[in-house]
Amino acid sequence: MPSQTMTAAVLNAAPGGLQIEQLPIPEPLANEVLVKVHSCGVCHTDLHVMKAEVAFPTPAVMGHEISGTVVALGPGVKGPAVGTRVVSAFVMPCGFCPACGAGRDDLCDNFFGMNRLKGTLYDGTTRLRRADGTPVAMYSMAGMAEYSVVPATDVFPLPDSLPLEESAVLGCAVFTGYGAIRNADLRGGERIAVVATGGVGMTIVQIAKAFGASQIIAVDVRDDKLEAARQLGATDVVNSTKVDAVKTVREMTGGVGVDVAFEVLGRPETFIQAYESLRDGGRMVAVGIAAGKAAAPIEITRLVRRSLRIIGSYGARTRSDMPEIVRLAAQGVFRPAEMVTRRFKLTEADEAYQLLARGEILGRAIVVP
Ligand SMILES: [Zn+2]
Ligand SMILES: [Zn+2]
Repeated sequence: MPSQTMTAAVLNAAPGGLQIEQLPIPEPLANEVLVKVHSCGVCHTDLHVMKAEVAFPTPAVMGHEISGTVVALGPGVKGPAVGTRVVSAFVMPCGFCPACGAGRDDLCDNFFGMNRLKGTLYDGTTRLRRADGTPVAMYSMAGMAEYSVVPATDVFPLPDSLPLEESAVLGCAVFTGYGAIRNADLRGGERIAVVATGGVGMTIVQIAKAFGASQIIAVDVRDDKLEAARQLGATDVVNSTKVDAVKTVREMTGGVGVDVAFEVLGRPETFIQAYESLRDGGRMVAVGIAAGKAAAPIEITRLVRRSLRIIGSYGARTRSDMPEIVRLAAQGVFRPAEMVTRRFKLTEADEAYQLLARGEILGRAIVVP
C-alpha cells in the first residue's frame, strides 16, 4: 500500500458540506474487496443526505458510483485479481438475505437495513474510521475517497475498450436507467417520455433508443439539457417552463399520449406531469427519489378507468444486470465518455455538489481522486 492514510471528503453533519480529511486506508474483511478509486460520480442521491432530506449517520463518506482497480482481496475472496479494472453498482447485494436469494438484489434486506440506515457493511460495522477511532459511516461503498471497500458481490471487471474514469457512471446513472427500462418492460416501437434529463434521464434516452422506442420525448426546464438529450437520441424535446408539458406531449403523439413515461426527478409536479402524459393502458415508471415523504395527488378514477400502471424502480439487480450493462457499454449502446461533462479533483468534491444542487451540471460530473 502506498501510504497508511488516504484523502476522503467527509460529511461531518447534515445539512452540511464536505470537508477534506485524512483517514486510515480501510482493510477488506471476508467477502470484500479493496478498490483504489479512479473515479466517483456526483449524484443527487448523495445531495439528499447532505441536505438532511434523507436521514443518515454522520460523520460519513458519500459517493456510490465508482470505478477503479482492485488492490487487495479480503480473506477467502478469489477474485477479480489484484490490478483488475472494475466498476461497482450503488446497490451492494449482501448475497444471503431472502431477497438476494430470489435474485432481487434491488430489494436486498441488508443493503437497506444496514448500509442505507446505519452506514455499515454486512457484519454491522463500517470499514472507515478516523485515526482516533471514531467510526465514519459509508454511504454505499463511500466512493468519495482514494480507497473503498466494496462487497465482492459488487465488483465487475471492465473490458479494456471502456474508459476507466468515465465508466463509473455505469454504477448508478446507467444502472438506474437500465433498471427503469427493464421494469417498464419496454417493447420496440413504443413511444416514451422522459421527464427530467439529468444523468439518469440521459441514460434512459440512450437505452430506449437502443431498445427501439419509436418516439423519445425529453422534458426538462433547461434548453441545454434538452439539446444534449437530442444528441443522445431524443426525437422531440419539451421545455416545461415555456409550454404546458402534458398538453405538448399529447400533441406530439397525435393526441394519444405515450406508452411509457419515466419520472426521474422525484418532485410532485413532475410526477403528475409524467402520469398525465400516459396514453390509455400506459405505464409510468417512477425513478426519482423525492425529498422526505413528498406525495403527489393522482386522479384515482383515471388510473382505474384507463388501466394505467405506476411502477417504482430503484436501481437494478446488481449481480445479474451489471455484467449485461458492462457488455452493452462495450458494444456502444451507451457511451459513458459522452455522458461525463465535468471533472473535479477530490479536494473539489464539495464544489461539485454545490454546482449539482444549483442545477448547473449537464449530464454527469465525476470526481477523480
Ligand atoms: Zn446515484
Ligand atoms: Zn441481500
